[in-house]
Amino acid sequence: MDFKLGEKEKVLIDEIAKFAKQELPPDWKGTQLIDQECTDFDFEVSMSKKLAQKGWLVMSWPKEYGGQGASHLEQTVYEMEVSYWGIPGAWMGISGIQWVGPVLIMLGTDQQKKKYLPMIASGDKDGYWCTGYSEPNAGSDLASMQTRALRQGDHYVINGQKVWTSFAHNARWCWLMARTDPNAPKKHRGLSLLIVDMKSPGITIRPLPNYYGRHHFNEVFFDNAKVPVENLVGEENRGWYHLMQALAFERRSVGPIIAGGFRRMVEDLAQYCKETTYEGKPLCQHPIVRQKLAEMAIDVETIKMFAFQFTWRLTQGAIPVYEASRNKLTGDEIMRRFATSAAEILGAYSQADPNSKFARVRGRIQGAYLGFPGNMIAAGTAEVEKSIMAQFRLGLPKSY
Ligand SMILES: Cc1cc2nc3c(=O)[nH]c(=O)nc-3n(C[C@H](O)[C@H](O)[C@H](O)COP(=O)(O)OP(=O)(O)OC[C@H]3O[C@@H](n4cnc5c(N)ncnc54)[C@H](O)[C@@H]3O)c2cc1C
Repeated sequence: MDFKLGEKEKVLIDEIAKFAKQELPPDWKGTQLIDQECTDFDFEVSMSKKLAQKGWLVMSWPKEYGGQGASHLEQTVYEMEVSYWGIPGAWMGISGIQWVGPVLIMLGTDQQKKKYLPMIASGDKDGYWCTGYSEPNAGSDLASMQTRALRQGDHYVINGQKVWTSFAHNARWCWLMARTDPNAPKKHRGLSLLIVDMKSPGITIRPLPNYYGRHHFNEVFFDNAKVPVENLVGEENRGWYHLMQALAFERRSVGPIIAGGFRRMVEDLAQYCKETTYEGKPLCQHPIVRQKLAEMAIDVETIKMFAFQFTWRLTQGAIPVYEASRNKLTGDEIMRRFATSAAEILGAYSQADPNSKFARVRGRIQGAYLGFPGNMIAAGTAEVEKSIMAQFRLGLPKSY
């Protein structure tokens, strides 16, 4: 089997490297991995627009909606490389590019495709989305959600609360899941996907600082917020099935991000171990350090292969649900292993803030360590992913 990339992909890799060196400040520390968070929103948007102008941002989307009609392989390679260089803006709050767009391409009406896809493809602020699934009493058990969308003539009236809504404070649109039929015989039926304008009256966004003080997610309250009926995505009351597709795309995104982002981190860490002495010897000659670095390199290679295998399944027209959960679970474990091993190698330096004089390895280890527990929960915990894999790979009965 030949795993070599083609000429197109090789050229793309070189062009992205050139772009990163030209556009990013020399002391650029990268974005927060996974959510690709950048603390300077205006800089992030300026970079999204530049990536869009290059034709890269949503390159695999059809040309009529702002893409380039590129292959899924090119798109995956692009995602790995922007993650390697930590280019902000490549993910635009992640929801719009990674799952709203792909699901709208499959299920959206012509009007929805023409309105929303070019907005995302432009890289501008109006293309930023958030995702409203989780509620205070519905996380892993998402089908228990209570937010109500009551149909009244030509619109739905939304009442309820969402929580952990990443980047709602930057988002122009919300990809919202709500209950349209409270009398459905099973709780996962009677749910619908809606597109909500975050500027609508009746929406309140309250910041929810995370456990290390960053404003990443929010609580979002809906108090008689109106949504036009044409903003229903797919079929009314079949939102649960559309959600499965959206979640597969969301979980898929972990593969290229980790494969690219951690490749860079492992390279940087290996370099640090070559340059740093401990008890009179370079760190890299310490047997335990060598083993840990080798394990990290294997992890990066594994997730890269999983990401490419998922991409190949996409090219066959599949929505690979099992593979998405496998990649998410594997990616989570890689994040955890990397962060704990890197913290052991760096010792107290791993705790230094990226801007501190004590920061090592571009100050990335602190973020990796603080970020992995949350990233392992977002988009489904390990237990949820394993349950899906048991169903879709082993044919076990559904758990609900
Ligand atoms: C960084 C981050 C970003 C997020 N962004 C968003 C967002 O943008 N939009 C959004 O809608 N949500 C978002 N979330 C929410 C996320 O999807 C939920 O936190 C997640 O699904 C878990 O739900 P929960 O927090 O209610 O935990 P719970 O569901 O209460 O789970 C608690 C524990 O119990 C376990 N558990 C639960 N049920 C079972 C079971 N049946 N079998 C075995 N174990 C079980 C879980 O695995 C977990 O360990 C985000 C979360 C984080 C951490």
